[in-house]
Amino acid sequence: MKAARLYEVGDLRIENVPEPSIGRDEVLVRTATAFVCGTDVRMYKNGKAGIHPDNPRVLGHELAGTIEQVGSEVQGYSVGMRVAVAPNYGCGVCDRCVAGNTQLCSRQKAIGIAVDGAFAEYVRIPAPAVRQGNIYILPETISFHSAALVEPFSCVYNAYERIGIYPGERVLIIGAGPIGVMHAKLADLAGAGSIYMNDLSEGRLNLAKGIVPAIEALHTEDLKAEIDGLTGGDGVDLVITAASVAAIQEIAFSLAGMNGRVMFFGGLPKSNSHVWLDTNEIHYKQLIVSGTTMQSLHQYREILRLMERGVLTADDIVTGTVGVEDTESVIEQITDGSGLKTAIAFE
Ligand SMILES: [Zn+2]
Ligand SMILES: [Zn+2]
Repeated sequence: MKAARLYEVGDLRIENVPEPSIGRDEVLVRTATAFVCGTDVRMYKNGKAGIHPDNPRVLGHELAGTIEQVGSEVQGYSVGMRVAVAPNYGCGVCDRCVAGNTQLCSRQKAIGIAVDGAFAEYVRIPAPAVRQGNIYILPETISFHSAALVEPFSCVYNAYERIGIYPGERVLIIGAGPIGVMHAKLADLAGAGSIYMNDLSEGRLNLAKGIVPAIEALHTEDLKAEIDGLTGGDGVDLVITAASVAAIQEIAFSLAGMNGRVMFFGGLPKSNSHVWLDTNEIHYKQLIVSGTTMQSLHQYREILRLMERGVLTADDIVTGTVGVEDTESVIEQITDGSGLKTAIAFE
């Protein structure tokens, strides 16, 4: 089968590799759609422990497809089912796993990172992931594109659950990439009064506004002055940083109003994660500051439920479709910040 395998920094090869074989407690999925995410780009650019020329890895953890084969000991799934697959799984027995946070397990692994992923015609779903309920059977109404975007979308939902968005609130989202658009969709659904979005790229802002008309695009170099003007100096109720840029975190507190909240959604590069913050802003404005990472399986399924009920879609975030042989060009596209999500499609 055709697959995109990472050998080391900057060395991603499109190769013919053997189809994965599964154990009695595993499931084989024929990939329909997979997406490249910031994590893949970071692995491509910075490398990843455990991935080297003697142990290359098929990337791809945002995926949906059709069940091709089911191990003899697996129950509840059958060949031909359309499914979405959550990538993160834990040991299954520690306190965090038992509490439903398998993604926070100290032995957490992910499909497409620790084991081969979905930039390939077939992907093996490991036994712990099958057991923990990572495979979700899709209703016909959810497309493979939307289903494959449930992974990043539920990361966004994790942030929403943690910090909340309440009716009428003024929300500022910094970053008009696909993640920013997902935050805007949830803010819209939650009844935000204003959804401000800032980005240096006017093209991306226009794309975002085309998808969520409630967005008020702020294409400005002086975001503080702009927000002060829009809010009469009050600041916004919630600031979400949806870009991995230290300078954005540095100004975030100043944009939040009294009793405001700040969500650091995008992480920073490990080598550059020390940021100059004015903590007096937290103190005197009583700010609540949080970050979130990944998603629980419950949050993953919540996004699927919203899609199933027809109140949420991710199809409009897909701005292109290519074959797996073009994976590297998608990585470049993400680096350039052009378009939103390009699907890697297999059928
Ligand atoms: Zn991802
Ligand atoms: Zn665990």
